[in-house]
Parts: sequence; C-alpha cells; structure tokens
Amino acid sequence: MPEGDTVWNTARVLHRALAGARLTGCDFRVPQLATTDLTGWTVRESASRGKHLLLRLTAPDEARWTLHSHLRMDGAWRAYAPGERWSGKPAHLIRVVLRTPGAVAVGYHLHELALVPTAEEDTLVGHLGPDLLGSDWDPDEAVNRLAAHPEQTISEALLDQRNLAGVGNLYKCEVLFLRGVSPWTPVGAVPDLPGTVALAQRLLAANRGRWTQSTTGSLHRGQTSYVYGRRAQPCRRCGTAIRKEELGERVTYWCPACQPEQPGTPPPA
Ligand SMILES: [Zn+2]
Repeated sequence: MPEGDTVWNTARVLHRALAGARLTGCDFRVPQLATTDLTGWTVRESASRGKHLLLRLTAPDEARWTLHSHLRMDGAWRAYAPGERWSGKPAHLIRVVLRTPGAVAVGYHLHELALVPTAEEDTLVGHLGPDLLGSDWDPDEAVNRLAAHPEQTISEALLDQRNLAGVGNLYKCEVLFLRGVSPWTPVGAVPDLPGTVALAQRLLAANRGRWTQSTTGSLHRGQTSYVYGRRAQPCRRCGTAIRKEELGERVTYWCPACQPEQPGTPPPA
C-alpha cells in the first residue's frame, strides 16, 4: 500500500540510484511525455512530498525541472543495475525508463506523470497539508487544518491530503484503532486531536527505511496490523470480529467494540 512512508522510501531508492548522475537514456511511455527526451540531463535529487514523488533535474541549459509522479494504489519505481533483469512488474505497466551509467530506474503504473519547472512545483503539491515525513513537519498546522472542518468524519479527514500529507487507508485504520476512535466520529468530537496526529506521524516514521509496513511492532507476515486487512478475524485486543466497509478506493477496517461510535457532540473544553 503506497502511503507516505512507501513514497519516502521510494524517493530514497531513486536518490541513491540516480542523484548526481547524467541520464544516458530516457524512454517515456505515456502520451503526454512521449516526445520528451531527458538524455543529457542531470539528476539533482529525489524527494517525496506526502504521497507525491519529485525527481529534480537540471537540463543542459542549466534550467531546473521536476519530474512528478504519484503511485496511488498500484504504482512503483524500481532501480536496477545495468544489465539486471527487470523483475518489478509486467512490462506493459512501464511508464518511464531512465538510464545512467550506473543504474536503470523503471517507473511502473505511475500516475500524474508530469514535467514542470522546479520553481512551479507548487502547482502540483502546493495544496498539500504538512508532510508527516517532511523536514518541515508542522503538527499544529495539521491539527488546525483538521479542526477547520469539525463536521467531517475523522476517517475522511485523515485521508484528505490537504489536511496532512502521507496518510492512506492503512495508517488511517490503524491510528483510529489505537486511539479507540470510531471511523465515523466527526472531527469535532474526536478527543485529543493532537494525540491522533502525533500517533499518525510516529507510525509512518517507524516504517521509514523498510518495505514491510507494521503498526504492531511485529514484522511477521499476518501480524503487522491490528485491523487493516483483517476482516472477520478476531480483534487482537478483545476478540470481536473486525469489520470492513468499502467505498470505492476508501476501505475502512475497525473493531466495533474497541472503537465504539461516539455521540457527535464535542467533548468539553
Ligand atoms: Zn477490539
């Protein structure tokens, strides 16, 4: 599940593979960039902003550009050694191939692939709230943005990247379980919003640098989450069957006993 931590890890992989190198080959397989050739361009750095990836490049004329991509549910970047077999995903999902003398970066099923001047990155990521894994992470601002819409359910609000950037379905479900908050609680009725935000940040940060996403502390298969992906299985705390509700791409898992529905009135100040 590509959430903020996965994108952060992906940015680091791309940075290690490409940063400082000049591109010796470039093959875009999306209509909007089909005639674009970045051969001869230099990769400055790779960074993440919430769930967005920003590959920053310098053109031969010294102009600074950013190749933006979004993984959504199924996208991925892989870095290979030259000559190594591309084992990531089927070839028909490849959207871009970037080659340097030391590495080949392959982007699979990428979304929102776009090349913009670096000075105009904000047109793509300027709407995002504070980045949970950014060096400029601002928990107070995230809480303020959440609190600005007290009637929105906390489940929707945590996924809204304009409030805070990086939480997807997995962390949304796990944070709300750990806080004992029903996903349908209005934001205005969530006790200790700052604590909820702080927990989300800690869970994502704990999974930086590894691909297994765990919120339980266990890295064993089948033991990495409390509720996410565990429909009808017994709650790890109380044994009640975990429930699941699906609305398009928005999946919610919760324990009806540990996360009881709360009255919609804000708690006393
Ligand atoms: Zn439970």
